[in-house]
Amino acid sequence: MNVILFGPPGAGKGTQAKRLTTTLGSPQISTGDMMRAERAAGTELGKKFDHYMSQGLLVPDELSLALLEQRLSAPDAAKGAIFDGYPRTLQQAQALDSLLQKQGRKIDLVISMEVPLDEMILRVVERRNCESCGHIYHLRYNPPPSPTTCGVCGGRLVQRKDDTEEVVRKRHEEYLAKTAPLLSHYTQQGIVKTISGLGSLDEVETRIKTALGQPA
Ligand code: AMP
Repeated sequence: MNVILFGPPGAGKGTQAKRLTTTLGSPQISTGDMMRAERAAGTELGKKFDHYMSQGLLVPDELSLALLEQRLSAPDAAKGAIFDGYPRTLQQAQALDSLLQKQGRKIDLVISMEVPLDEMILRVVERRNCESCGHIYHLRYNPPPSPTTCGVCGGRLVQRKDDTEEVVRKRHEEYLAKTAPLLSHYTQQGIVKTISGLGSLDEVETRIKTALGQPA
């Protein structure tokens, strides 16, 4: 099954995508995670990504598409994938459709997660990520055992460079201008289900499983 978790920054796409990997037995494909890994490795490509990411701007489509193509061709993504943060423009959505079509696949479901702006900002500025295993915490809603150490692997917890209020507001503007409009591409195909992204992690996960027709 190929599923897109769709929504603004801070909607909970990354956290829920990680949970869904177990339910669906398919990998999470997060272009944001791939870009951060490239940036952390200090590659030339990583420097290009950083230029856009640190300002809260979308990375140009041709760069994100190259990453996506590479990741989709990996054996673990052959049967299905959970897309988190891709597509973000209509051009990306069309590119994803044609890549999947070449493999005899298609997007089966788009789960649109709705969260108001003030909640989104609160979530993002208090988010912490493990730099080793990628586990995502929130200092209040899903606190780690210590503010600096991951409870899963003992790795160091860091705040993403783009998780400041100023950058999040810019990311939200980008979302409204370029990403939100592409939902109609999938609405026309009749494959969008909208859920509230508010509530506990378990509550949101239950809504997603219901949307997927899976036992809660
Ligand atoms: P995310 O981790 O999905 O919140 O993405 C963080 C940042 O990475 C975004 O604000 C963009 O700068 C960049 N990014 C991630 N995925 C994409 C994408 N599909 N298209 C363009 N930029 C992206």
